[in-house]
Amino acid sequence: MWDIDSQQVLDMLPLPTCVIKDDIIQYANFKLANLLHYSPTYLKSLSFLKMVHPQERLKLKNFITQFVNKNSGTERCQFRVETGRGDVLCIKAVFSLLNQNPGTGVICQCCGAIRYEHQSLDGSIIQEEESDKVFREIFHHSPIGMAFFDKNGLLTDANQASLEILGLTSIEALKGCNLLANSFLPESIKEKIRDGESLEYSTEFDCSLVGESKQLPFNKTRYCHIDYLVTAIKTKEKKCAGYLVQIQDITARTLAERHLQYLSLHDSLTGCYNRGYFEQEMKRVEGGRLPSPGIILFDIDELKLINDTMGHLTGDNIIVTASHILKNCFRVGDVVARIGGDEFGVIIPNGDQATFEGVCQRINKMVAEHNEANPHLPLAISMGYAIMDISEKSMDQLFKEADDNLYRQKLSRRTSVHNAFFRGLTRSLEARDFFAQGHNTRLKYLVRELAKTVSLPLPQINNICLLAQFHDIGKVAVLENILMKPSYLNCTEMQEVHRHCEIGHRIALASPELFPIAELILKHHEWWNGGGYPLGLKEEEIPLECRIFSIAEAYDVMTNDRPYRKALCHDDAVKELLDGAGVQFDPELVTKFIRIIKEGCTKEESKPTVFE
Ligand code: GH3
Ligand code: MG
Repeated sequence: MWDIDSQQVLDMLPLPTCVIKDDIIQYANFKLANLLHYSPTYLKSLSFLKMVHPQERLKLKNFITQFVNKNSGTERCQFRVETGRGDVLCIKAVFSLLNQNPGTGVICQCCGAIRYEHQSLDGSIIQEEESDKVFREIFHHSPIGMAFFDKNGLLTDANQASLEILGLTSIEALKGCNLLANSFLPESIKEKIRDGESLEYSTEFDCSLVGESKQLPFNKTRYCHIDYLVTAIKTKEKKCAGYLVQIQDITARTLAERHLQYLSLHDSLTGCYNRGYFEQEMKRVEGGRLPSPGIILFDIDELKLINDTMGHLTGDNIIVTASHILKNCFRVGDVVARIGGDEFGVIIPNGDQATFEGVCQRINKMVAEHNEANPHLPLAISMGYAIMDISEKSMDQLFKEADDNLYRQKLSRRTSVHNAFFRGLTRSLEARDFFAQGHNTRLKYLVRELAKTVSLPLPQINNICLLAQFHDIGKVAVLENILMKPSYLNCTEMQEVHRHCEIGHRIALASPELFPIAELILKHHEWWNGGGYPLGLKEEEIPLECRIFSIAEAYDVMTNDRPYRKALCHDDAVKELLDGAGVQFDPELVTKFIRIIKEGCTKEESKPTVFE
């Protein structure tokens, strides 16, 4: 009936098209054949109504009959057909008569088609089409990754979110992906999927490894935690028609949860376990009935002083250093916990006297090594332990006993620790303030001489000499680049330097040796006219020792090189002192001081630059 040219013309039509006569397909173009997943030759001579969904056959038969009988124009109709692949298409078609003649056949052109991925089709076609559209929208725009697999596990579609989760840019990379042959899923899970069970499964990947293995189309290089929800899609007859897999990247949530879990058990500064975990462990050990568990406690010495003088950051570093030493001295399984500000505790599940003594020796050795490398800021840790003996104490009692032993040791070591710390401070000051040694020695001479001329009693003379030695102890806390700056200091830097009076005051209060001069250290930068710091005292409110000291210090500073200027000559320095009399300095003391200096200069052995 068709000559070859007519067939070629129909093949060129843009829409999937067939010609039907007496329900038999006379011709179908390639586009229709592709759409229905049949070969064009198979379609030819097939019953058209047989392809239509059984529920709609009668309706469509009546429609075509009426249409042919009307013999006019075109008519639209919508119906479902089953494809050669077994799925269902909802087709919108335009029917027209061939040659305007009912006897020659009907042309059916498909102008729209929606594919159902499964066959659970209920209700009217229109409703299904709309719900399908809605579903498609949800599918493509859902932030949850979704992928469909057919009943053999072969991937048929995946939405954008799933591609993003997998780090892919196109669905091409997923071609051939088979859910049931996925080697990353355990066999037991695949078994359940095959059995049609809906299940949730969660896996963690090191994506760099996954990428290398080429077993999963992952294109990420980091750790990933993916949550899968697999749902079997069932036909009306309860047969499996495929699978919907919902994918969520829960990496960020997992990492946050793990971090929170870590924080709930660990101390953030040192990474050691925290007090909560330590107490939990104490209970666990108590319930465990171990033969000889023990507790060893540590407390850093003089941390308050370190904080006060060097700042909290230095204090923090000391705590971290102590934690490193402790962690290195115990076995990996031992629970090293920071149980207080500068306190650490360790539970040893089984140990005897020798074990604990050994640990203490190891720690002392490591502390000594650390101090050798850091003489300016020595670390000192007091420790005490207690071991469960036959008397069946509770772990709380054991803790108390260890704590008592710790404080006994702390008391016995207090003076030596204090001295070591103090030595460290002095060394650090000397190392940072290059002129300190000569400056202090010359100062001691000058202040003693001036103190003698005003008949200061001996204890006060001794104090003023101590002041000459330690007046700048608070400078340990001043940044080195400010102390050594080779130019004049700006306002902020000046304020930083001014802090040294108060810091020095705190150090002196904490030190039995310097306690008597704590107040003098605080006030050694006050001015006669009230323009000094830190308190702005004036005239006789300023202790006499400080007034003496400030003249001697000014003279020595002026007559020696400073990082930011060259030394003045003796006469210029004297002139400066005279200018400052009544302003910065006590005027009577300036006169006395100049007399001493003049006398000193006439004697060869007591030149102002080398006094001792
Ligand atoms: P002692 O030699 O007797 O142990 O005295 P100490 O100065 O070490 O003081 P103590 O052990 O009684 O108290 C601990 C101090 O540690 C109190 C607080 O100033 C300081 N501290 C507590 N937690 C922190 C912290 O996280 N960082 C710093 N820098 N200091 C802390
Ligand atoms: Mg302490």
